[in-house]
Amino acid sequence: MSIPVRVRFAPSPTGPLHIGGVRTALFNYLFAKKNGGTFYLRIEDTDQTRFVPGAEEYIMEALEWLGISPDETIGKNEKFGPYRQSERKHLYKQYADLLIDSGNAYYAFDTAEALDAHRKQHEEQGKTFIYNHHNREKLDTSLVISEEETANRIASGQDYVIRFKTPVNETLHLQDIIRGEVKFETNLLDDKVLFKSDGMPTYHLANIVDDHLMETSHVIRGEEWLPSMPLHVLLYRAFGWEAPEFAHLPLILKPVGNGKLSKRDGDKMGFPVFPLEWKTAEGVSSGYREKGFFPETVINFLALLGWNDGTEKELFSLEELIEAFDLTRVHKSGAKFDPEKNKWFNHQYLVKQKNKTLAKAFAPIIESKNVSRDFTFSEMTKIVALIKDRAHFVSEFWELSDFFFVAPTSYDEKASKNWKEETPALMEELISVLEEISDFTSVNIETIVKDWMTKNEIGMGKVMQPFRLSLVGALKGPHLFDIVEVIGKDETIRRIQKAITLL
Ligand code: GLU
Repeated sequence: MSIPVRVRFAPSPTGPLHIGGVRTALFNYLFAKKNGGTFYLRIEDTDQTRFVPGAEEYIMEALEWLGISPDETIGKNEKFGPYRQSERKHLYKQYADLLIDSGNAYYAFDTAEALDAHRKQHEEQGKTFIYNHHNREKLDTSLVISEEETANRIASGQDYVIRFKTPVNETLHLQDIIRGEVKFETNLLDDKVLFKSDGMPTYHLANIVDDHLMETSHVIRGEEWLPSMPLHVLLYRAFGWEAPEFAHLPLILKPVGNGKLSKRDGDKMGFPVFPLEWKTAEGVSSGYREKGFFPETVINFLALLGWNDGTEKELFSLEELIEAFDLTRVHKSGAKFDPEKNKWFNHQYLVKQKNKTLAKAFAPIIESKNVSRDFTFSEMTKIVALIKDRAHFVSEFWELSDFFFVAPTSYDEKASKNWKEETPALMEELISVLEEISDFTSVNIETIVKDWMTKNEIGMGKVMQPFRLSLVGALKGPHLFDIVEVIGKDETIRRIQKAITLL
């Protein structure tokens, strides 16, 4: 029997969740759902100096908005709880002690000043100070003092840390689901701190202990954690626990140039790098939600950052992603972030929305404008249907449809050149034709107006362009007779009359 799939998203609440973190959560979610497994959220807040109030709530809200909430977390199916590491504080010491007892870890008493001095001294010689096998027996550690002395120092309250005693002279051949075999030389690793005398574990110890206790089957996380993989695997070995499988996701790269996508790139090019807006005393960082992106859009473009299904298919719903997702198809090389393409995705999801849903979103914008009369919900729905093909965001609707709500007050200069000497007379005639129409619907109006033009041998352009100019103020917008139907007979005639006097 294969072990059940249990994967986790384990962010540190140090600020708003970066879009790269959201992708990590998404890939974990997809992998869990694809394999009938469990996706849980664990908050890694052992570093209290970096704790930011509100960050945890932000993470939960972002996942919920995207529709990828965890199956287990704080306050939800707490089978393996607590899910906040600061509340598991009492658990970790015993595991650090186990490593001491088995000779896989040691106490180090070096003061911050002493370590600084070592660093400086190395720098002066053009070297980097690494705390590991080649010097750990020359430093202030339990490896060189007696057990009794170690016990005395701890009892007297001297500050210490517990460091991992990295094995020497080993080449680790590790398996990563995405990268295949990855090799590490243990001699190049440093003896990482696992536990501090203030009673707090470091990330490495807490992460391994919790992944084990919470029965994590696969660790899926960003490439920046690949260098930690040898230590993590060695820790599992030292505890005598079976390690989970590992998959390190490729970096998300800037839209142009090389390097990791940063908040600065977003600010420079005007796109968010956070799912939701994040406000601090220093200012506001924009979010995809507030910019008018649909959660479906964000899910879709994130899924394609480093993964595809092997075909040209680009549009995937969450359900389709679950169906198609395969960790072994995730790429090794970095994935370029493409903000323009993201807008294209939003357009795709915008046109798929129900017109009523879009009208509901548009209504407050209309309300904030000075419109000539009250528009019914069904009128708004009609208008939205006519313009949505041209929009990426609901926020663009007003610009695309303002002429439905307010008569033009000026006319596009270039287009006004189409207003000729004979135009006013033709427009007067057009008014008489319109006045006679009782079934004032787009197709009917079109038929009647076109019949009139044909019968009188009036060229299309001669009527249609000035007609549009009168209603819209420019030569833009959806099908003219659709506009005529929506704004209605009286308003249409009023606008033509106004154009005759103004142009
Ligand atoms: N707390 C780590 C982070 O902030 C978790 C890394 C991991 O998944 O092991 O991303």
